[in-house]
Amino acid sequence: MKDKICAYIESQREDFLKDLKSLVDIKSVREEPKAGMPFGEGPAKALNEAIKISNAHGFDIINFQNYAGEITYGKDPVLMLLAHLDVVDEGDFWTYEPYNMKIVDGKAFGRGTTDDKGAALCCLYAMKAARELFGEPKKGVRLVMGCGEETGSEDMDYYFSKREKLPYTLSPDADYPLINLEKGRFAPTFKKSAENSGEKTVISFFGGTTGNIVPCKASVLISGIEENEISDIIKTAKNDTGVEFSAENENGLLKISALGVSSHAAHPEGGNNAQTALIYLINRLPLNKNEVTLSFKSLEKLFPHKETNGSSVGVKMSDEISGALTLNFGVLHFNNGEFTGSLDLRCPIGANDTNVKAVIDKNFCDHGFSFEGDPEMIPVHYVPEDAPIIKTALKVYEEYTGLKGECLAIGGGTYVHDIEGGVAFGIEFHGTDYKIHGADEFAVIDELLLTAKMYTAIIYELCY
Ligand SMILES: [Zn+2]
Repeated sequence: MKDKICAYIESQREDFLKDLKSLVDIKSVREEPKAGMPFGEGPAKALNEAIKISNAHGFDIINFQNYAGEITYGKDPVLMLLAHLDVVDEGDFWTYEPYNMKIVDGKAFGRGTTDDKGAALCCLYAMKAARELFGEPKKGVRLVMGCGEETGSEDMDYYFSKREKLPYTLSPDADYPLINLEKGRFAPTFKKSAENSGEKTVISFFGGTTGNIVPCKASVLISGIEENEISDIIKTAKNDTGVEFSAENENGLLKISALGVSSHAAHPEGGNNAQTALIYLINRLPLNKNEVTLSFKSLEKLFPHKETNGSSVGVKMSDEISGALTLNFGVLHFNNGEFTGSLDLRCPIGANDTNVKAVIDKNFCDHGFSFEGDPEMIPVHYVPEDAPIIKTALKVYEEYTGLKGECLAIGGGTYVHDIEGGVAFGIEFHGTDYKIHGADEFAVIDELLLTAKMYTAIIYELCY
């Protein structure tokens, strides 16, 4: 069986690369919507190209208003494969051209080669291989190619307003071996009014700007203190926090800037938060005690520098399957007597409104802060390890790669986060940085074909 599948997919190599180039060469970054194109022209063009390719391989494809395209092979489908055709902006510093795919040393370079046009094609070729090798399935298989994954998955909101979910969903838009647990998320914004009085106080504070990133920069303006008065305090704070500080005079005020290390909020322990480090420093300056400076003391108490498990705000928790709760204090601004900020928590299976949201709310209240609006907790996405789709996918993975197949738990969310029973399977192998979302994104061609082979085998196992 394996030999048959491998031989067929290998025979498609040239066609596969030709199709991949035709998709990658279309810039399918979200733009302003146009009539009939909810994500603008680029994503619609990519879907149109995918329709042409699918037709050329003998598949009919339904276009869901340029939100997504759907191919169903066989009756009564049970398995949905989910990939996307939109890409993130190319950014700077490319050696190759982002929208003119080039093959060098067995790698295909270009935006979307891995994430996720390459993956979409793997699924299409797997369906074709299944059809050519095994004929009509007992239960059908469906490929859905979305056009809005990178900007919040509104494509799936639309698609699932028209279509039922299937028993099995598999998406090659994340990591191998397989992700069966995506932590829940709680990302509230908060505020507090605080009055300034006297000299020696904080005039304004500017921390991070994006809640889901550990801020690498922060700065503060302080009145009534000279740079030379605090050089020892700066030195100590640098030692204690590992963050770099610099101080300068700006229009009669003291400006202190902090430079740390950024990281994604799904793994905040990988960064060094410039914002919490600067709060640490501020709290050691000889400042006036007023509402503003006391608020900075509160913030340090609730979110001490280097703590990423939510312990001080009372929400530390973990379990065997999902690991520990993480907390990123990503945004804080103070200006004209107003504090605003945001947190980003990634929560394990047992987290809920009572043991996370209510606890933070209470601790915030005690220090005069409050949530803006009524923030909602996004639940954990979890598929138990003994689910048939997981057992099948990992068995195939071990057989085709020779690597150990095991489930992963992650702090981020994948394309299947809101699809009950869905799991992410591929497309990135552990240990390689494919530069997805960065410059010179690439795919290893042999690995793409390997993904196509594994998806063929899974279709066979679940549908025939
Ligand atoms: Zn993706």
